[in-house]
Amino acid sequence: MKILTLNCGSSSIKFDVIETDLELIQQGADYSIVRGLVEKIGLPGSQIRYTYNGESYKDVVEILDHTEALKKIIDVLTGDSPHILESLEEIAGVGHRLVHGAEVFSKSILIDEEVEKQVDECSEFAPLHNPQNLKGVRIAKEFFPNVAHVGVFDTGFHHSMPPYAYIYPLPYYFYRKYKIRRYGFHGTSHRFVSFRVGQLIGIPREKLKIITVHLGNGCSICAIDHGKSVDTSMGITPLEGLMMGTRTGDLDPAVILHIMAKEDLSLHQADTMMNKHSGLYGVSGISNDLREIIEVMDNETEGVNRARLAFDMFCYRVKKYISAYMGVLGGADVVVFTGGIGENAWQVREVATHGLDFMGIRIDPVQNREILGREGDITAEGATVRTFVVPTNEELVIARDTVRCMEGVL
Ligand code: ADP
Repeated sequence: MKILTLNCGSSSIKFDVIETDLELIQQGADYSIVRGLVEKIGLPGSQIRYTYNGESYKDVVEILDHTEALKKIIDVLTGDSPHILESLEEIAGVGHRLVHGAEVFSKSILIDEEVEKQVDECSEFAPLHNPQNLKGVRIAKEFFPNVAHVGVFDTGFHHSMPPYAYIYPLPYYFYRKYKIRRYGFHGTSHRFVSFRVGQLIGIPREKLKIITVHLGNGCSICAIDHGKSVDTSMGITPLEGLMMGTRTGDLDPAVILHIMAKEDLSLHQADTMMNKHSGLYGVSGISNDLREIIEVMDNETEGVNRARLAFDMFCYRVKKYISAYMGVLGGADVVVFTGGIGENAWQVREVATHGLDFMGIRIDPVQNREILGREGDITAEGATVRTFVVPTNEELVIARDTVRCMEGVL
């Protein structure tokens, strides 16, 4: 059956149509038919881009709101050139990426009105994401009134963390009153790559200890003990943990109070500074895009090389977390790199694993440079921990969970 997956953000909708069912899942034979992105919704230069049958298409067209965006996606799916679907009736279910499920949702779920209400209540933890995700659900239900709609949460996979990993060392009162705690994100990605690496080495993840390192614009790392997330670096929001494209990651919280007082910043300004003006971008002063940072750092000869500093800090923090999670797990069997940076930036993989031989992690320098944007084993000979690159596929997880919910097997 064909499942449409939607990932609805404030000015974008990512979509994918995936052919899948329980048997195809079992065989790992399910596949994407078409995938794409509507971006700059309601902004100048709005456009839809998609890939079908290996060909890329782009249409720059005025798209004023999310309803128009979904209409445009449907036009693409049912259009003549390329001819993708016979009719919209072929879509058997819609899977939605939902960011924050707080303590309410531990797994994917059929979205009825009650669920919509509960997701809305979780918005206080993800005010920029959950309302947008819900908007996508409501619009999609208008276009697809007769099929199942399933919600797959970024936080879901991390429900297995023990309290000593998720409670913050604040007065306990705040946990009781406001549910302030670590929730973790990128759960669909950590879940996918840990499952996939188990397939690649022929040992199911239920028998492995795995550290998954997701490095994209947002970055997080997860300790997975026999298939269950036992700790992850992002917290109540996606700001904690590793250094990211524009986010700080870990930081002495007093720094923010100090800067707010010195610069007379509002809460909103402080939030913007930590989320949008920091990380690789804030330190380098160049870009949040690691490719640009690497290019500049290799060519900079004068003054302080802030691009190099940003790169070194980024890798150093990945190394610290890998080392910490080796301790959390009592040693790991596998380390997996994923996300735009994890899949492509061999330089990061090289520096972030350098010197970890003493705990069994050593990568092969030649293999590491060769495995770019594709699956592969980059373990050096003799290393006791295997290191892999596995491209993530969150859409596939969403589609699979949609099928499982529809079939009542989740
Ligand atoms: P998102 O978290 O938005 O899904 P991605 O997973 O696509 O982001 O990752 C985006 C990051 O990946 C950017 O910092 C980009 O520079 C980096 N990246 C992509 N390709 C490469 C590459 N070939 N070399 C280095 N970094 C890359």
